[in-house]
Amino acid sequence: MQAEEYTRRGKELVDYIGQYLTEIRSRRVLPDVQPGFLRTLLPSSAPCEPEPWENILQDVENIIMPGVVHWQSPHMHAYFPALNSWPSLLGDMLADAINCLGFTWASSPACTELEMCVMDWLCKALGLPDHFLHHHPDSRGGGILQSTVSECTLVALLAARKDKILQMKSSDSTEMLSDSLTDTDESILNSRLIAYASDQAHSSVEKAGLISLVKIRFLETDEKFSLRGETLQRAIQEDRRRGLLPVMLCATLGSTGVCSFDCLAELGPICAREGLWLHVDAAYAGSALLCPELRYFLSGMEFADSFVFNPSKWMMVHFDCTAFWVKDKFKLQQTFSVDPLYLRHDNSGATDFMHWQIPLSRRFRSLKLWFVMRSFGLNNLQAHIRHGVEMAKLFESLVRSDSNFQIPAERHLGLVVFCLVGGNALTQELLRRLTQSGTMFLIPAAVGTKLIIRFTVTSQFTQPEDIHRDWSIIQRTAAELMKPGFGTRPLSLSLSTDTEASEDEQETLWQEQEAEKLGDRLTEGRMRLEPMIDKHLVRQGQRRATRSMSCSAELPPTRPDSTLNLREAPPPGALAQIPESPVPTEGRRGQKRLLKFHSVPSLWQCAMQQMYRPLHWSTSRASYFTCCTLTQK
Ligand SMILES: *Cc1c(COP(=O)(O)O)cnc(C)c1O
Repeated sequence: MQAEEYTRRGKELVDYIGQYLTEIRSRRVLPDVQPGFLRTLLPSSAPCEPEPWENILQDVENIIMPGVVHWQSPHMHAYFPALNSWPSLLGDMLADAINCLGFTWASSPACTELEMCVMDWLCKALGLPDHFLHHHPDSRGGGILQSTVSECTLVALLAARKDKILQMKSSDSTEMLSDSLTDTDESILNSRLIAYASDQAHSSVEKAGLISLVKIRFLETDEKFSLRGETLQRAIQEDRRRGLLPVMLCATLGSTGVCSFDCLAELGPICAREGLWLHVDAAYAGSALLCPELRYFLSGMEFADSFVFNPSKWMMVHFDCTAFWVKDKFKLQQTFSVDPLYLRHDNSGATDFMHWQIPLSRRFRSLKLWFVMRSFGLNNLQAHIRHGVEMAKLFESLVRSDSNFQIPAERHLGLVVFCLVGGNALTQELLRRLTQSGTMFLIPAAVGTKLIIRFTVTSQFTQPEDIHRDWSIIQRTAAELMKPGFGTRPLSLSLSTDTEASEDEQETLWQEQEAEKLGDRLTEGRMRLEPMIDKHLVRQGQRRATRSMSCSAELPPTRPDSTLNLREAPPPGALAQIPESPVPTEGRRGQKRLLKFHSVPSLWQCAMQQMYRPLHWSTSRASYFTCCTLTQK
C-alpha cells in the first residue's frame, strides 16, 4: 500500500467506522458462535502474495463481525462500560501515526509534557487533592497514564512494599523489632508484609498479591458491602500480634459486583496512623467525580497515597487509558528506577515516566484524553455521566414496578442489580434465555448466595426507548418463566435466608440444594440448569476459605505447639517465630514438595500453612459476595 492508497482507504475506513457505530443498535449484541469458529474460516497460513484491500475489508464483515461482542451497543449491559467517542478515536489515530515511545522526557518531550498537563487538568476536574498535581508548589506527586487499573494496583503495592522494606531496614526504625534488620534479605522482609482489601475488591488486587508475594487479607464488609474502619483496625491489630507488618490498604470506590463504596473517611485516618499506604481503586466510579453532586464518596481522599480510575470505562476515552496519581512520586522512583547509559539525557531534571511504571516503553495516550476533554468540555462530560445515571434510575424504577423482581443491593451510579423473587434457578434461567436471544448482554454475580443479574448502562447513546425495549424483553421472558407449572420446583431451590445464616449453615443449605437439584435433573430435566452458575454459587459458601488458602491471602503459620493469644501483646521478637528457612517435616515427600519454594519464604510459609490447618478468619456474617468468573473485567 502506498501513501495515495492509504489516504483513500483511510477515508473509506473512517466511513465504515462511522456507519458501524451509528447503526450499532441493529446488530445482535452477542455473537452466536462456538469456540474455534474462526479458524475454519481462515487459511491455515499467511498469504505469500499481497491480497487486494477489498478482499481484506470484505472479510471484516464476513469473518470478524459475526464473532464480535458489540461493546458500544446501547443493549450492552455486561461488565462496566468500555466507551469510545469520536474525538477519542481521532486522538489515537494521530498517536498511532506519531507512534513515539515516551519513556524519557527526551524520547519525545511533548508526550511527557502533555501527559503531565492533562493529568493535572483531570485531577482538578475530579476534585482530587492538590498533592496529586504535577504543577503545584506544595506537591511531591503527580499523575501518569498507564494501561490498566490492574497494573496500577500492582505498581502501588510494589511501591508500598519497597517503602516499607526500606523503613524496616533503616536502623532508626521503631517498628516491631529490637534486632536490626539492615542486613536481612529483602525477600524475608517481604514475607512479613500483609496488605488489605475488602471482600468486594476486584480480582486484580489478589493478582497483585500473587505477583508480589505480599499476603492479602480480604476483609468483611458491612450490610452495604462497604469496608469500615473498625474492621480494618481489628485486622491490623491481629496481624501485628502475629508478627506481621501491615503495608497497604486497597480501598474500592465502586466495586465491580454491586458498585459499593468503602468508607474512606474512616479508613483514611487509620492508614495514616498505622503507616499503611492507602491505594484507592475507583476504576469505574472515578468518572462520576466529574460531577460535584456525585462526590459524596470522596471524603477521606486527602489520606490517599495513590488513586486510580479508568477514563477508558465511562469517560469515553477508549482503552487503553488508566489515570493513576501518587502523592509522592519519589516513592515510585525508588521502586522502579534503573539507569542505563543509553537512556540518559542532558535534561536530567525533567520527568522520565519510565521510572513510574513497569514497562519501559509507553504510548502517547494523553492525546486522546486531551482531544476528549477539549472537544466535549467538562460540561458535556458531566452531562454524559448524569445521563447514564438517569438511565439507570429509569431501569431501576421499572424493575421496582414489577413484583416478580427484586433489587437486592442499592443502586449506585449506572449499575442496577436485580433478581427474580422466585429464586436462583429462575433468575438463572431468565439470564440464560436472555443471553441465548442475543438481544442484550447481561452477566450474573452473587450477593451472598443470591444469584443476581447486573444491568450496567454503558453507551452514551442509550435512550429511554432502549431501556424500555430491554426491560420489556426481560419482563416478557420472566413472565413466561412464571407461568403456572414452571415455578413450583425452582421455587423450592430459592434460599429463605441469605445474610443471616452463618457460613456453615449456608454450606449445609447448599449441599442440600445440590442434592435436590440433582434429583430434579434426574427425574425430569425439565429445567436445564447451567452448571457454570450452579457450581459457582455452591462454591460461594466455600469461597472465603478457598481464597485464604491461596499464597497471597494466607497468614504465616504459627507453630503447631504455640498458643498465641491474640488478646495479649506479642511476645518479644514475635517475628522470630517465623523460621527463616524451611524445615522438612514430612520426610522425603515433604522435602520434595518444599524444595521449589525454598528461596522464597512467603511461598514456603504458604506450603507449610497447607500442611497445618488453615487459620480461619472471623466470618460471623455471610454477607459475602464475589462476581462470577465472567464479571472479572
Ligand atoms: C474494571 C475494574 C478493574 C480492572 O480494570 P483493568 O483496567 O481492566 O485492570 C479493577 N477494579 C475495579 C473496581 C474495576 O471495576
